[in-house]
Amino acid sequence: MIEVVSGDRCIRCDICERICPAFVFDRDATGLPIIARQDDCQTCYLCEIYCPTDALYVAEQANGPTGMTEAEVERRGLFGAYARALGWSRGRAGGTDRDPTHLLRAAQN
Ligand code: SF4
Ligand code: SF4
Repeated sequence: MIEVVSGDRCIRCDICERICPAFVFDRDATGLPIIARQDDCQTCYLCEIYCPTDALYVAEQANGPTGMTEAEVERRGLFGAYARALGWSRGRAGGTDRDPTHLLRAAQN
């Protein structure tokens, strides 16, 4: 479930609000996304994956909020962690070099 929007990291690009299939976000007067309908979140991670500045954190727990704070997400290095795990590297450190899928294919040969 979506947990955190970092006002410091966010560049107000509006991508997360437009991409969210559940219309979870509103925006404040500065353009910062506000988690307005957290219960509607589908834990699909689209907002986190597409955010260009890793300003969002979606927790894997889909049944309810975890109470994770921005400071805790920052301290644990979780901003952008899901995108990095997928190997997405737009504007970020690359991750495809750590994709183990080719090892599965090698094991099949
Ligand atoms: S996608 Fe990221 S940078 Fe863009 S508005 Fe949403 S939180 Fe801010
Ligand atoms: S995880 Fe999916 S449903 Fe939840 S806020 Fe992000 S884009 Fe919307």
